[in-house]
Amino acid sequence: MKLAKRVLELEPSVTLEATAKAKALKDSGVDVIGLTVGEPDFATPKNIQDAAIAAIKSGAASFYTPATGILPLKQAIVDYLKRQYKTDYTTSQVVVTTGAKFALYCLFQAICDEGDEVIIPTPYWVSYGEQVGLADGVPVLVKGNEANEFKVTVEQLEAARTDKTVAILLNSPTNPTGMIYTRDELEAIGNWAVKNDILIIADDIYGELVYNGNEWFPISGISDAIKENTIVINGVSKTWSMTGWRVGYAVGPLPIIKAMADIISQATSNLTTASQYAAIEALNGPTDSIIEMREAFEARLNEAYPLVTAIPGFKLDKPRGAFYLFPNVREALDKMGYDDVNDFVNDLLEIAHVGVVTGAGFGHEDNIRLSYASDIEKIKEGIRRIHEFVESKIND
Ligand code: PMP
Ligand code: GLU
Repeated sequence: MKLAKRVLELEPSVTLEATAKAKALKDSGVDVIGLTVGEPDFATPKNIQDAAIAAIKSGAASFYTPATGILPLKQAIVDYLKRQYKTDYTTSQVVVTTGAKFALYCLFQAICDEGDEVIIPTPYWVSYGEQVGLADGVPVLVKGNEANEFKVTVEQLEAARTDKTVAILLNSPTNPTGMIYTRDELEAIGNWAVKNDILIIADDIYGELVYNGNEWFPISGISDAIKENTIVINGVSKTWSMTGWRVGYAVGPLPIIKAMADIISQATSNLTTASQYAAIEALNGPTDSIIEMREAFEARLNEAYPLVTAIPGFKLDKPRGAFYLFPNVREALDKMGYDDVNDFVNDLLEIAHVGVVTGAGFGHEDNIRLSYASDIEKIKEGIRRIHEFVESKIND
């Protein structure tokens, strides 16, 4: 049976694959601790659930909406960006999508012709490169310097720029490192992009999840020139614990938004209507539940970080945001006799019964990713099992 070249070359999402593998082992009766997927473990706040239920009961949720979302949701997004980013947008600059993931997918479809290059700093979220490839574009990976919190500099970006470069992807706080670009770093990168007419893609999905007094700054808030050259990708999945509702959005330059709207109208039509009503309540409603969840993540980070750095051969600077730990485990791999991080990750699952994600999927083969978006006792037990496994292997 014939399959298209584009799918033959496609790598499935390693985060979702690792999660499915851990779940399958758990379902078979094994006591597995899953620290794989980046998904908050809290129930969606009740006021948000109620808004969806009301939309279902009133009948509103029974029907299609405009393909790019209902106006009150677009208005709620514009108001949120005004509050959070101090930027002004109109509702015509917004498209609502089936998760931020699909916003990115539509965006690459909208901006890439064959051979167009998108610069992606590494470590990068697993789906960026594959999505660029699905749009016939070429991901150009620029390696973040581990000593500089894995962040890239303008000099590195300039060295990667060619006449085919169409966009640069910035994800801060970053999945998987949890590091944050400072305002000065963003300004330098933003001005470089504007000068070279390179679109900035700002994946701000973890923008509200910053801890221990660290600050996040939206690149689109730096200057009008940068804002006009930036497409913001965001959503409610992480901040409001709404991964299952699949609400994402893109906001930015009208020609790109219009192109994305046309793709959405031919691909999915609107995001599930009940989810749109839920998202309005998330964005407009009280903020106490999201503060509580953020504080819980902060406490988990503060407990988990010293436990992970105490594992022999694990090296990690303390993350500032998101909900991942991305230790460099090369020294431990060498001491345990592994060449390939994937073999270590497989043994962690099969022998120690802890699910983590290989750093190879994020472009760094010396690392593994642990998500701390789960119950603290589970996190502690998962890290304890990793520690015990590593020690026993080293002493073998
Ligand atoms: N960007 C990053 C960096 C992510 O980690 C995720 C998590 N899946 C997404 C985008 C997409 O989120 P969602 O599709 O759930 O809105
Ligand atoms: N972004 C999350 C993660 O990195 C969710 C899974 C996915 O869509 O990749 O684990």
